[in-house]
Amino acid sequence: MRSLVEAKTRLRMSADNPHIQSLKQAGYRLTQARLTVLEVLEAERGHITSADVLQKVERINPAIGRASVFRTLELFTQLGFIRPTYIHTSATPTYVMMHGGHHHHVICTECKRFFEFDNCGMEALTNNLQRELDVQISGHLLEFYGVCADCRGPDRAERRT
Ligand SMILES: [Zn+2]
Ligand SMILES: [Zn+2]
Ligand SMILES: [Zn+2]
Repeated sequence: MRSLVEAKTRLRMSADNPHIQSLKQAGYRLTQARLTVLEVLEAERGHITSADVLQKVERINPAIGRASVFRTLELFTQLGFIRPTYIHTSATPTYVMMHGGHHHHVICTECKRFFEFDNCGMEALTNNLQRELDVQISGHLLEFYGVCADCRGPDRAERRT
């Protein structure tokens, strides 16, 4: 039974996955905990709380303990795969995937919906910061807040000003 689960995990996480490459390059072993947490994070394409990660990992492989899931989330944060953000509450972080070192979204402060976007146009600012602060920048997390069209409604949209 156990080997069946493991074989399935290996199949789904291909060796040319960039995060698996980074783990190997940094000298980390590809343990079941690391592979399974990675699989869960990638399937969510971004936003997921640690509680949800725990639940989904348990469903895939109940042999992986809570402590190793938390250690793996710590490691992935250190390696820059994910970043914790505190959106709805400061108690439980929501992890976001840092694809290629960046992540951007707009949050509706009313319905808490996320609007992800790809083009950040941050190159000029990144270059300026690197020069001015003499910091080698490896990524960014960009978070905008606002009220979406649905939440404004037809009436509220008209008398916005
Ligand atoms: Zn996002
Ligand atoms: Zn909204
Ligand atoms: Zn960006």
